[in-house]
Amino acid sequence: MEKINLRDYVATVKDYPEPGVEFRDISPLMGNGAAYKDAINQIVDFAKDLNVELIAGPESRGFIVGSPLAYALGVGFVPARKVGKLPREAVSASYTLEYGGVNELEIHKDAIKPGQRVLIVDDLLATGGTINATRRIIEELGGVVAGVAFIIELEALHGREKAMEAGEVPFLALMEY
Ligand code: 5GP
Repeated sequence: MEKINLRDYVATVKDYPEPGVEFRDISPLMGNGAAYKDAINQIVDFAKDLNVELIAGPESRGFIVGSPLAYALGVGFVPARKVGKLPREAVSASYTLEYGGVNELEIHKDAIKPGQRVLIVDDLLATGGTINATRRIIEELGGVVAGVAFIIELEALHGREKAMEAGEVPFLALMEY
């Protein structure tokens, strides 16, 4: 079978969502069965040695990466949702957005048991605010972050440093821009 180049499935959109920003759109990757499967399989390989017990992903593209991964690994999936969407008691953390403004994510309090090993995944790492907030909630609940994985890392924004603020953990990005 021909080797898949995931870069062929990333669309770059100039001046979106605002002038001067280059948005990396992974819709073509998600929309192609072979490319989507290849990306998920690469993250499965990364996760194999990390003793992962749960996958966590931030709303909404983190769900698209995290759900098939959880299924493939045979572990549960924990959504980090935008504030106000969860019906039961939750723990939240806020963060500043890449393009200005503040956002807040939350996870159900009983979703993670103390000591459980959680792999955090998202489609893209930019400034690291989203992943940092997700990590803070997981650690507040007593979870252990087993690693973090992304389809894309925007290197110039140094999000990796923000992701590792609470301590170094295994890191994977399938593509760097
Ligand atoms: P951060 O919090 O690291 O600054 O931003 C990452 C979050 O914003 C991710 O949840 C990601 O989905 C979204 N995001 C920011 N920039 C982009 C982009 O260029 N492409 C995509 N697909 N998502 C982005």
